[in-house]
Parts: sequence; structure tokens; C-alpha cells
Amino acid sequence: MTGTIASLADLARADACGRVVIKVGSALLVENGQPRREWLAGLAAEIATVRARGQQVIVVSSGAIALGAARLGLAKGGRGSLADAQAAAAVGQIGLGGLWAELLGHHGLTAAQLLLTLDDLEDRRRYLNASATLNRLLEAGAVPVVNENDSVATQEIRFGDNDRLAARVAQAGRADAVLLLSDIDGLYDRNPKDPSAQMIPLVRGVTPEIHAMADGGSGSGLGSGGMTSKLQAAEIAERAGIALAIINGTYPSPLARALDRDIGTLFVPRRRDSGRKAWLGGRMKIKGALVVDDGAAKALLSGRSLLAKGVREVVGEFARGDVVEVRSTGGAALAKGLAEYDAGECTAIMGRHTDEQAGVLGYAPRSAVIHRDQMVLL
Ligand code: GLU
Repeated sequence: MTGTIASLADLARADACGRVVIKVGSALLVENGQPRREWLAGLAAEIATVRARGQQVIVVSSGAIALGAARLGLAKGGRGSLADAQAAAAVGQIGLGGLWAELLGHHGLTAAQLLLTLDDLEDRRRYLNASATLNRLLEAGAVPVVNENDSVATQEIRFGDNDRLAARVAQAGRADAVLLLSDIDGLYDRNPKDPSAQMIPLVRGVTPEIHAMADGGSGSGLGSGGMTSKLQAAEIAERAGIALAIINGTYPSPLARALDRDIGTLFVPRRRDSGRKAWLGGRMKIKGALVVDDGAAKALLSGRSLLAKGVREVVGEFARGDVVEVRSTGGAALAKGLAEYDAGECTAIMGRHTDEQAGVLGYAPRSAVIHRDQMVLL
């Protein structure tokens, strides 16, 4: 990160925002099963302007399912069943990638297609691999166009919405900011249909109050986003020190409208975890949980490792190295971290002092159940 992002206008400054992810949803891209070519051509022209300012761009584009469903004549926009969505995506992605390649090509820009599954970004090695590919593409001058690999992703292991995918891609691509193009100006403090609803221009930290403002569900019925998934994306981004903006994509030149006229909601990060911790914090698949007593909870918050002594309960089946959540006895999620023991071993040593553990385990215990270097506070 080279400068600080404090306003939407900063997102147009190469010194503050050298690398940006632009996420485009299905409702903006597809109308009646056909691509909205004219609008998309306008966005491609804006992306060329961003590039000409010296900023690198990664696009996260939805639309494969909506395009493919129309082509195959599938009901409910291809979202009636997982099998329909998978088939629709396989058909639609060809056209979607081609469209981006063509429209960016008009500006001398080379599009590069990347289809990722949730697991590609949850597994550390594959994540680093995707990260290296994105980096190389950007250095080589291409515009990566990313979508979820919907044809192979199954229900349990899919993002399902491209908002969170965009935030994870921003982490992997070491971007400074994410722009989520929505069908609304930004985040409102209550249902935007309420005439007294106010748009929130700046958010520092996605608190429970902020969550309460989003009502969930996708307005358009075409995509699967909605404000809830946008806030989840903002949380993933914030953990990695990445700014995120929700802006209205429905206008002909949406980037200029939002950034020049300061219309949208900007989420500014409060912290920047190390790359590894940010990846860990953004992980979405949790294998189990450790419920800890108040003393251990306090120790964690002051930056200490989690010791077996403070563990009260072990939830789920996990192996050493899996991501587990640390919870208070009241059920609040306190942290996420990599377990040093499998679930059975955790159960055997919980509540015990370090000097009692060797006898139970049959080998010298590790220094902690979750080491502080492998843990991120939530
Ligand atoms: N990946 C899906 C698609 O290309 C869209 C997911 C979403 O709605 O955000 O159609």
C-alpha cells in the first residue's frame, strides 16, 4: 500500500490505490438473458481510463449463470437447482469471457480469464499459487477477469456470491481497494425504500449496528448478492487492510459518477494484518470450534496463545492444521486459528496444565493448542 484511502476520490489516485478490484454483478451485465453490451462497453472504457491513470485492474464478473440459462432455456435464470446453475455457468462463461476480451480489446487491453473455487483460496498453497498468477498477469499488463468456477463448485464448497469472491481475490491479488458495483447508491441506514433512509458515506469497521442496516437477499433476483454478502465482503477486505466501496453501477459511467461526485459508501480498514493472518481471517470453511473460559478469552485478547488449560469444550471433528473457531462460553466468536492438535487430542488435554499433558498424549506437548502466530482475533 502506497498511500492512504480516506475518500472515494482516493480510489482514482494511483499513489493511494495502485491496484483495484472491480466487481460487476449479474443484474448489471445481463438483461432478458442478453448481455448489456452498451453499458459494458462504457465500463470497459472506464477501465481503460483507470489503467491510463497508472492503476492496475482486476475484474470480478458474474453473469455466467444468467447468460447460460437463457441460452439453454432453463427456468428461474438457471438458479432452480445446483445442477441447472452448473450447466448454465458452463455455457454462459464462454460468452462472458469472450465479451470481456472483446470489449477490453477495443482499448488495447488484454483480458485473462481465471475461474476459481472457494477451495482454491482456502487452501494456503493453492491460494499462494492463485496470488502469484494474478500478480504475474498484472505485471504483464493483462486485466484478469475472475469468476467462480460454478460448474464444478458444489453447494457446500462454493462462494455462491461474487461479493465475497471479490474480497478474497483482492487479498490474493494484493489490491488496495475493491469496488462493488451495485444497483443502489450505497449502504443505507434502513430499508432504502423508506423515504427517511439515509445513505452512509463512510464506514469504519463493520459493527453489529452496520449489519443491522442490511436486510439480506438480492434485490434483482438475478445475482445472489444483496447487502448482507457485501458487508461480509467488507469484513474480509477490512481484515486485510483493503478499502471497499459500494457504488451504483446502473449509470452509464458508474466509476466517474461515484468517484468524481463522491456518491457511494466507503469502508475504510482499521487494521492491516500480515498476509498470512489476513488469509486466515478470511477463511470461510471452519472445521470445528474450541469453547474457552473467561480467563483464556482475556488472554487471547491481550495477544496470547490459547492453552489447553482454558479450553472447556471441543466441537466438531478436525485434524491438526485445520482452521477452528475460538468461542466464548456465551457462544461469541473470538478468534480463528490453526489447531495444533486434532479434535480427539484437544478433548483429552482440555482443562489440563501443560505438565499433565505429556502423560495423556504420550509425547511432549506443543506450546499451545493454537499458537498466537497462527491465530487472528475476530
Ligand atoms: N458466479 C455467478 C455467475 O457468474 C454469479 C454469482 C453472484 O450472483 O454473485 O453467474
